[in-house]
Amino acid sequence: MQSLTNRSKVVVKKEMTWMEKIYLPAILGGLKITLKHFFRKKVTINYPEEKRDIAAVYRGLHVLKRDENGAERCTACGLCAVACPAEAITMIAAERKGGEEKLYREEKYASTYEINMLRCIFCGLCEEACPKEAIFLTDQLVPTFRDRADFIYGKDKLVEPKDAPVDISKRQTAEVKEFKTHKQYTHNKL
Ligand code: SF4
Ligand code: SF4
Repeated sequence: MQSLTNRSKVVVKKEMTWMEKIYLPAILGGLKITLKHFFRKKVTINYPEEKRDIAAVYRGLHVLKRDENGAERCTACGLCAVACPAEAITMIAAERKGGEEKLYREEKYASTYEINMLRCIFCGLCEEACPKEAIFLTDQLVPTFRDRADFIYGKDKLVEPKDAPVDISKRQTAEVKEFKTHKQYTHNKL
């Protein structure tokens, strides 16, 4: 057979020595490495009991915000879904009926809104695309589950509770707020 390069080597299975056969040097070598790390400062933490400090602008679990009257801000425009590079967001739009003004801020709302957290790469583009200040990423981590279906977050998990609003003020830096005061972005007012 013609060889393409002259770098080929014949591999020979070397016979193990008696010392190698009893594995003692290898075991002692492994123990030495373990002992070396035993007295070093741990780089791991006991999550979820212990948590690391994370930045205020950390991009974690999403929240769908309500307005100052408690109505859902999302108008099911779909811009977040279009902006999402991971195609993690799906929604079904519905028309607000008479008497539902306190529930939904706009005439159109999302009757179903889902984010697949297994697809999400927490890039924050959905937050940036939203013209209604309806979706934000928070500093909360997505918990782990054993069932894939549990990672599909619907409105029951995403919409903030009326009596426990999620504070996203740290994400709204002075620069972001100033930016949103520009006339052309008035739709983006807080
Ligand atoms: S954070 Fe990024 S990947 Fe996740 S849902 Fe939003 S746009 Fe999609
Ligand atoms: S979260 Fe914002 S961008 Fe997404 S559908 Fe609702 S209003 Fe539109």
